[in-house]
Amino acid sequence: MKRSSISKKTNSKLSIITIVLLVIAIIAILFFTSNKNENSKEEEGDLEQKEIVAEDPVNEESQKPEEVKEESDDISGDSNEQSKEPINKEENNEESKPNQDEKPKVDNGYIVDQTLPTTPTYIDGVLIANKKYPLPKDFNPGEDVEARVAFEEMASAARKVGYEITAFSTFRSFEYQTTLYNRYVERDGKDNADRYSARPGYSEHQTGLAFDIGEVGREDVWLTSEFGETEAGKWLLENAHNYGFILRYPKGKEDITGYMYESWHFRYLGIPLATEVKQSGLTLEEYLGID
Ligand SMILES: [Zn+2]
Repeated sequence: MKRSSISKKTNSKLSIITIVLLVIAIIAILFFTSNKNENSKEEEGDLEQKEIVAEDPVNEESQKPEEVKEESDDISGDSNEQSKEPINKEENNEESKPNQDEKPKVDNGYIVDQTLPTTPTYIDGVLIANKKYPLPKDFNPGEDVEARVAFEEMASAARKVGYEITAFSTFRSFEYQTTLYNRYVERDGKDNADRYSARPGYSEHQTGLAFDIGEVGREDVWLTSEFGETEAGKWLLENAHNYGFILRYPKGKEDITGYMYESWHFRYLGIPLATEVKQSGLTLEEYLGID
């Protein structure tokens, strides 16, 4: 019994030691394993840090030239332009979009591929014919009777002060304008012809209200700016509105009227309107608000 009890005690001691050793071993393994994990985490952290460190110099390098640029721009005063640039670009984009969608192509003031209307255009009761507002092909009123009467009154008034004026070209049909325009294009080229001769359908002469005026005996200056420098031409410029006419294509208004200065081309509007337009100093387009 004693022996067995001793051996039992020894056995139990051994098993306790074994358990303790096992526990120690487990703890040791666990500790080792966790330590290894932490190490690997640190390594990863190092990598991340290294990546960050590696990125930073790139960022600094990429920022530095800009800072230097900005400084140099400040000195040269271009920084304002630089800051405006994106805004302008946006504005341009906004402008160019409707241009592409809404505004048609223009050739010497004419809308490319425009079809002639079926009815003439009246703005505030005024029949308008210009590069933007053409007439129907079959609009064929002939010379306006009222305008002719007014012209004869003007001519007799001019005669009284010593100038013999005549209207050498008034109403022109679509067909006649076609012949005339083609002749001018052949002679001077399209770009030049478009400055002084209307394309068929666009001529104010087709309204029957336009009168090309010259002085008898001074045919040499008909259809030239020189007529405007003659005494007869000056008298007309100052007095035509009293008879219902205005100089239709004045000097320096080519961008608005579409035509070079034509000292000889007068448009009948009736005395009240002609007087108002003359006193306003505006072209008919500006006066009607269609410039
Ligand atoms: Zn004319």
